[in-house]
Amino acid sequence: MQLDLKKLFDAEEQVLPFSMELDLSGVEQWGDRPFKTPIAIKGEVQNRAGIVTVRYDADYILSASCARCLEPVEQKKHQEFFHTVVRKLNQQEDDDYLVCEDGILDMDTLAQDDILLELPIRMLCSEDCKGLCPMCGCNLNKETCSCQEPVWETNRRVKAFDNLEWSDEEEDQNLPS
Ligand SMILES: [Zn+2]
Ligand SMILES: [Zn+2]
Repeated sequence: MQLDLKKLFDAEEQVLPFSMELDLSGVEQWGDRPFKTPIAIKGEVQNRAGIVTVRYDADYILSASCARCLEPVEQKKHQEFFHTVVRKLNQQEDDDYLVCEDGILDMDTLAQDDILLELPIRMLCSEDCKGLCPMCGCNLNKETCSCQEPVWETNRRVKAFDNLEWSDEEEDQNLPS
């Protein structure tokens, strides 16, 4: 959605409310397409004493697989975003301001950038998800298995340790005294 802010910048209007739905179903993240349903966006642009600001809420559901146990996870999100909009920058580039030279604000691009920047690094079904057993692949949140510390693994470590001790001794013996 394109918002025409020219009247707002000229202070002919003080408030411009808007609402829209944003389709991000094609966006890939964590090997998933987490935006299965449209994002509901509602907000307003304001001119207060010559300062133009855009403020909006985004409500959506993130759907993906848990990064540890691979079970499907859904997270309900409610986020608020706020930007100061200027027609041009007086100083050098400044990330705090949203530059809108022609007076047209592309809300689709703005909301998409804002939302993708706030995405978590990974999705987890819960912070203490135990994940899958690396040996048998069972979901350790739901079952327990007996393959935590396999016997062959322990034996191999003991043997390696013995060999190390033994070769150290031999080296010592071979050292010129
Ligand atoms: Zn999990
Ligand atoms: Zn197991």
